[in-house]
Amino acid sequence: MQNGLLSIEDLLKKSAPLADDSDDAKKSVANEHESESATAVTQNIEPAAKAKIEAKMSPEELLGEKMGKIELQSKEAQAQQEAANAGVSYVDLKGFAISTDALTIISEEQARALNVICFLYTGPELRVGAVNPADQKIKDLVFQLGERYKSHAQLYKISQQSFDLTIEYYARLPKARKIVKGVQIKQEELEKYQKQMNNFADIQGVLQSANVTDIIGILVAAALKMRSSDIHIEAEENGIAARLRVDGILQNVAMIDHDQWKKIINRIKLIAGLKLNVNDRPQDGRFTIFQKDKKIDVRTSTLPTAWGESVVMRILNPESIQLEFEQLGFRPAALKRLEAEIHKPHGMIVTTGPTGSGKTTTLYAILQKLNQPGVKIITLEDPVEYKLEGINQSQIDHSKDYTFAKGLRSILRQDPDIVLVGEIRDLETGETAIQAALTGHLLLSTIHTNDAAGAIPRFISMGVKPFLLAPAINAIMGQRLLRRLCEKCKKPVELDADTKAQVKASLEAIPESSGEPKPDTTNMKFMGPIGCAECNNSGYKGRVGVYEILTKNAEIEQVILSGQISEYKMREVAQKQGMVTMGQDGLLKALEGDTSVEEVMRVTGIDPATTAQTTTLPSQSINPPELPPTD
Ligand SMILES: [Zn+2]
Repeated sequence: MQNGLLSIEDLLKKSAPLADDSDDAKKSVANEHESESATAVTQNIEPAAKAKIEAKMSPEELLGEKMGKIELQSKEAQAQQEAANAGVSYVDLKGFAISTDALTIISEEQARALNVICFLYTGPELRVGAVNPADQKIKDLVFQLGERYKSHAQLYKISQQSFDLTIEYYARLPKARKIVKGVQIKQEELEKYQKQMNNFADIQGVLQSANVTDIIGILVAAALKMRSSDIHIEAEENGIAARLRVDGILQNVAMIDHDQWKKIINRIKLIAGLKLNVNDRPQDGRFTIFQKDKKIDVRTSTLPTAWGESVVMRILNPESIQLEFEQLGFRPAALKRLEAEIHKPHGMIVTTGPTGSGKTTTLYAILQKLNQPGVKIITLEDPVEYKLEGINQSQIDHSKDYTFAKGLRSILRQDPDIVLVGEIRDLETGETAIQAALTGHLLLSTIHTNDAAGAIPRFISMGVKPFLLAPAINAIMGQRLLRRLCEKCKKPVELDADTKAQVKASLEAIPESSGEPKPDTTNMKFMGPIGCAECNNSGYKGRVGVYEILTKNAEIEQVILSGQISEYKMREVAQKQGMVTMGQDGLLKALEGDTSVEEVMRVTGIDPATTAQTTTLPSQSINPPELPPTD
């Protein structure tokens, strides 16, 4: 049998041993992994059974079957030739065992829509077969899978026949198989716990009477009810403290016994996919809580401390991120300025602020606004927190040296229109991002400085060249989240004379060029927090962003190009050309009764009067001060 072709005489010789298909064209590299698949599904028919079936056939039937086989073989050869012409690897999947792990990487729906199949997944290796490997959608998919599974993902050409055979494997998957790690917390169960917990003080009692398996459910139920973003469980000398972060502030809610903690942490590790026996170094994982109509991801990290391991669980509630761009809290004039910038086809938009200041939410809202058919958006994050529909999201991997800089370069090869890079923290990433912004991409990112004026000096101190930075920057934003006053209990308050004078000076310093209507400072009224059952006695409920937006004009470009850049100078020029500071934005919101003056001062960290005059700020501050992590 040469070149896989048989003569008709050969075929009619009944005594001739039947060629087993799997001997043919199986030189593909893919096959070496076949034996590794523990739970493989395959459509191979035992050779003995096959011989039995064929023995019952008439010579004509047998001829027909063999002719069909020849046709298929020639189609397979054709597919192989096409692959060779296109420079793509080729594989024949007939008789190929595909593990369920590999098969479930692509959903059946998507596999059928794109004529693709994931035929191999070993962890480090991921292989996808496609009937039309040149399709850009398929290339995107393979890229994304590689990113998501941290795998070396490769695309292979397969014949239509290979696809038709392997797509049937989906029907054989065990129906109950759950692909993601997760815990099922029933709606009723959640509601039952939530009924028992009306304030922070109730949580301790509910936890005390619960068994270990219920504790995670109870903590999650409490976090959701109290609108908490994070659950912190910290090992301390005298016990284990459970805390919830609500509106940015950690609240003590319960103490757990040291004895119980071992069991609880083991259960958390189990469901989050962490190693049980590792307790001397940090671990990261996540699990999913399935509810009737939604699922909530919980990102879980453990940290060894002097008194045992501590755990932080971040609740990624999709409802908390579904923010419309228009609902972020931008004032109309600021919104107009920012909108003009995000609709430019290229350039850089950078947000600044400490961890927990809402930068990611703002960038996601911008992406969602820009997410239109025909616009290709790719993100590179650390890590991907929320899945955005229709956007290619990927994540860096410290352990594999897949950094922001390396990831960004590989993303740019995918020819996106818009790129989000989680953070610029080194020269390599900075230069690549600027290059992207200068070559026709809109690039969104964050940089770790206190405010908008600090961003340019930060770039320069990294070593970025001013003559590249100046044309690349479109806008820089500073932001913070302020707690909103509780609508149920807020009351009018009188400010003391000093504070009043500061507030007045700051509001009056709002530049006319900002487009912001001049506030009436002669008869200012402010509200303050009281505390009631509705707000857990804090006086605040929910949060709102305050922003400052520095957009580039000729003067700012000149300042950047001059290389003589101090935060002081940047702030001065920015305010002259119409920037309202975060502090001023906060005071305008306080004037409208949304928040309190004390909250504005606490969060913007700056006394509003001096911000406006900028007299007490250092003239040169190249290195950003160390920011305390707020989450
Ligand atoms: Zn209240």
